[in-house]
Order: sequence, then structure tokens, then C-alpha cells
Amino acid sequence: MTYRGRLAPTPTGDMHLGHARTFHAAWRRAREAHGQIVLRIEDLDHLRCRPEYTTQMLADFAWLGLDWDEGPYYQSQRREVFLDAWRTLRDAGVIYPSTVSRKEVRDAAHAPHEDEEDADPIFPVALRTPPGAERAHDAPDGVTWRFRVPDGRAVTFTDVRCGARSFTAGVDFGDFVVWRRDGVPAYELAVVADDVAMGITEVVRGEDLLKSTARQLLVYEALGATPPRWCHEPLVRDADGRRLAKRHAPLSLQQLRAQGMSPAEVLGGGAA
Ligand code: GLU
Repeated sequence: MTYRGRLAPTPTGDMHLGHARTFHAAWRRAREAHGQIVLRIEDLDHLRCRPEYTTQMLADFAWLGLDWDEGPYYQSQRREVFLDAWRTLRDAGVIYPSTVSRKEVRDAAHAPHEDEEDADPIFPVALRTPPGAERAHDAPDGVTWRFRVPDGRAVTFTDVRCGARSFTAGVDFGDFVVWRRDGVPAYELAVVADDVAMGITEVVRGEDLLKSTARQLLVYEALGATPPRWCHEPLVRDADGRRLAKRHAPLSLQQLRAQGMSPAEVLGGGAA
């Protein structure tokens, strides 16, 4: 099978050092495998994404020497792909409409450990919509949709870099959002629907998304699709062990460039 990888930036700000190294890892793995690379702009969040960030990102890719074979595709123009996935999940009875507000979830939820990379509060089982309610909906809009996770089930996978991983549904993560109330498909649905539609065989991304991989495996299963291989790259941290992305002022590529750093120095590994 031909290797198909992707670069999937979200244009919500300037590209920083951590992103650049992860994108470079994705690009390198595809090139080493003599595979193809798809560029997909994940611009579904119309409040946070801006066209000028996309333009800057494309310029940053060019400066870094990262190229691609297909795209750019824009998720904002691919609603049909996501609606198809939504319909399949609805027909399978694994998602449900929910009117529980985010505040209600926060108040009732058992919060995961604060130090976790992905500390989304766990949706309380008692607040689930009873099965069957999804059948009354022909379209997802106007209400939040969540995936009913199989409580207590271990979701396991073997990551190219991180090895064997296991997350327990209902414990490590709860019912997650697949479609937002404002009509925007949520990340966990959009990324899987697109990776399936684009025939992606390996996903290379940051380690902060390991837990999302467990959620996404449940979506693959419900869609009847074969998951790709996973390769989660270590995150770039500063001298104090903080993720660069979470620093007050992450090092943007533009800043580093202005300081005279070369692409090779930016991508050159080691701590920042
Ligand atoms: N668009 C996501 C991000 O920039 C990447 C998602 C993924 O690789 O699955 O963080």
C-alpha cells in the first residue's frame, strides 16, 4: 500500500517551533517512505481561524522546505464529508443530541488530573440523552452531538513512537462532542472523516493528541473504517519542562526567522 500522510494545520495563529518540528516529522516520514502528502487546512472554527494565518502558514512551509502532493483542501469547504459521517454515526445509534450546557458538565463532572495534556472534563453518564433520540433528527444543527462511549472498555493501540497505549472509555475520557451546537463539526469527527476520505495510512502528530486517538478509534470502528498507523511525536518543551505551545509567548517561526535562524536550525532538534 502506498504511504499517504498529511499536514493538517489549524490556522488560528502563527506557526511556532513545536508545530514546525511536528510538521517536519510528518513530512520526513512520508518522504522516506516514498509516499504522498496531503495538505489539509483545518479551518472549521470560523471564530478562531483566519485566512491570513493560512497564508502565513503556507509561506512558513515554503521557508521550511516542506512540500506536498495534494491540496490544500479546506475543511470549511467539506461539509458534505462530515455530514455523511454524522449520518452514519446517527444510523448506528452511537451519537446523541444533548442540550446539557458546558457549564452543567463542568459543575457535575469529575475533572481529570489537571496536569494532563488533555483535561476535558468527563461527561457525566447521568446526563446522557436516552437512546433513540437521535432518530428524530435529519440534520445535526442546533444542538450539541456527543459520542456515547462504551464505559469501561479499554481502547488500545500501538504507536510507532510511543509503543503500546491503552485508555479506558468512561474513565480517561467520556462522551465527547462530534458536532457543535453552532453547526460546526467537532475535531474528533472531522479529522477521522477526512483521514478516511483522503486514504491516509499514517497520522503523524503531537503527543498531546494520544488520548484523542483512543476517541478517534471508536469513531473509526463506528464508521466501519480501517484506522491508520499512529505516530505521536514528543512535544517541544522549554528548559522548565513547559510545553512551548502553552508558554505565554511561544516562539513563532516569524520571530525566529527575524532573529536570523535558518530552517535547519529551527528544525534541528534539541530543546529550545
Ligand atoms: N489540526 C490539528 C492541529 O493543528 C492536527 C490534528 C491532527 O493531526 O490530527 O493540532
